Amino acid sequence: MINGRIEDEKINQIREAVDIVDLIGEYVQLKKQGRNYFGLCPFHGENSPSFSVSTEKQIFHCFGCGAGGNIFTFLMDIEGYSFVESAKVLAEKGNVPLEVEINKDSKRSNMPAGAQQMVEAHDLLRKFYHHLLVNTKEGQDALEYLLNRGFTEETIEKFQIGYSLDSWDFVSKFLLKRGFPAEYMEQAGLIIFREKDESYFDRFRNRVMFPIMDHQGNTIAFSGRAMGDDEPKYLNSPETPIFNKSKTLYNFHHARPHIRKKEQAVIFEGFADCISAVGAGVENAVATMGTALTDQHIQLLKRNTDQILICYDSDSAGLNAANRAVNMLQDHEFSVKVALMPDNLDPDDYIKEFGEKSFVSEVIGASLTYMAFKMHYLRRGKNVNNEGDRIQYIEEVLKEISRLPNAVERDHYLRQLSSEFSLSLDALEQQQRQVFFTERKKGTLPQPAAQKKMALQYEHKLKPAHHNAETKLIAHMLKSRDMTFKIQQLLGQTVFHVDEHQAIITYLYAFYEDGHEPDTSFFLTYLPDPNLRRIVSEIEMMSVNEEVTDKELTDCINQVLKYEKLLKIKEKQVEEKDAVRRSDYVAAAQIAMEIIKLRKML
Ligand SMILES: [Zn+2]
Repeated sequence: MINGRIEDEKINQIREAVDIVDLIGEYVQLKKQGRNYFGLCPFHGENSPSFSVSTEKQIFHCFGCGAGGNIFTFLMDIEGYSFVESAKVLAEKGNVPLEVEINKDSKRSNMPAGAQQMVEAHDLLRKFYHHLLVNTKEGQDALEYLLNRGFTEETIEKFQIGYSLDSWDFVSKFLLKRGFPAEYMEQAGLIIFREKDESYFDRFRNRVMFPIMDHQGNTIAFSGRAMGDDEPKYLNSPETPIFNKSKTLYNFHHARPHIRKKEQAVIFEGFADCISAVGAGVENAVATMGTALTDQHIQLLKRNTDQILICYDSDSAGLNAANRAVNMLQDHEFSVKVALMPDNLDPDDYIKEFGEKSFVSEVIGASLTYMAFKMHYLRRGKNVNNEGDRIQYIEEVLKEISRLPNAVERDHYLRQLSSEFSLSLDALEQQQRQVFFTERKKGTLPQPAAQKKMALQYEHKLKPAHHNAETKLIAHMLKSRDMTFKIQQLLGQTVFHVDEHQAIITYLYAFYEDGHEPDTSFFLTYLPDPNLRRIVSEIEMMSVNEEVTDKELTDCINQVLKYEKLLKIKEKQVEEKDAVRRSDYVAAAQIAMEIIKLRKML
């Protein structure tokens, strides 16, 4: 069981309060088609929708990759939550009071001590800083400063921008008075210990405060911007038990539904650019927080989209960072584009100078493909009129072309090279093939995507008869308790031959024995293994509500029983061959008789 310490009654209240279509609709664009809703699966890349959600059954299932489950397991799969975490989030959505301490046992990632209090303190301070900025005399200068710099009230509200007082100890006292342990507040980077008089002082003083949220919208850090000439210009929270830069993408919790809808994420290098871009209507914008793109960022993005647009500064450092990011993303099979700004501008400056419209059309809209960016990047600092530079450039471009999985694309860029430098296309093609084989030997080429994906594909071959019979029986067992015990009796000692099927019915017996009524969506919370949940949701999604005749039932059971005998026969046939090999003809004849007997029973 995965539902741990939450009572069944609570789980049912939450299930009644939150509709699966509403929940999944926040992540996937769903369209009604017949009785169900369909959309593009968030768990695997696809172009035509095979992901279905049933209001009636309150389950989801993907016919492409096999993912499936109910509202709880959807959040577990997509957010990496534990069951209790999912339940908490859902209870909040459905306004169901739920008192669970997320502690060491229920938290997926051993939450460090004090983490909960650190998050609470951050959330409290976010509200407090924001209030100071928009409602008080103390925050007036900061507010004017922001408005003068082009921030709208809407942006200030949306990003919960605030102001920290020009005081050494206001926050320290504020937090300690509210019972937050000093030790944790110091670890969280909000206050700093001063040895001289053994007291605490505030990290952020007289700064415009930008809260940094995690992917669920909890405040986990701040960046404070100086308004005058104070150094540093930006003062950030340090890495703390709740704030890990290499996992955090700024604005991700706001951007996610837009990333889904537009099927693309736009990545910026800092939150200031990201805020400006969102203001310009680029709502699928996220930003790294002063680190290069990491594997953790990429995994998070991959769960949400296959297409990334990189929009970094256009100076040399920005281009190098973009190039690194492009390589990583290409390796993870993203379709990558790069937006280039003119004249060493960063996106924030560009928007201020040329306006939002121009940013969307001239920068985002005119972004370069992977290969076009590579050609631009490789050309920097080279004079292609110089023979040495030109040869080096062409070789480097050929190497990149060799990495392209698509033959049409390869051809396109070879032709481009050929016409630009008046080279024979044949010669270029030949050279490119050579580069390809050399690189392949070195193992530097990306693996063909098709093969990797196939391994993940759910088996959709025709299934043997006993497999289908077991599936049908499970479908009926999910609908009726009486039927379940009837089938259990008819099966006797025989177990289902597909291990997963046997596991499912074992859990189902326990579910009914616990006194539950048939309810597949609820039953899914009894299954600890995501693979079993997939199978159950597929069976449920495929099955229609209809009475089963006794004849159908016995047919299915006979299929299962027959398969057992077939296995036995196979076993005997091996024994028979073995006996013949040993020249033990008596034994062989005896086994042959047994086989005949078994055959007659089929
Ligand atoms: Zn799928």
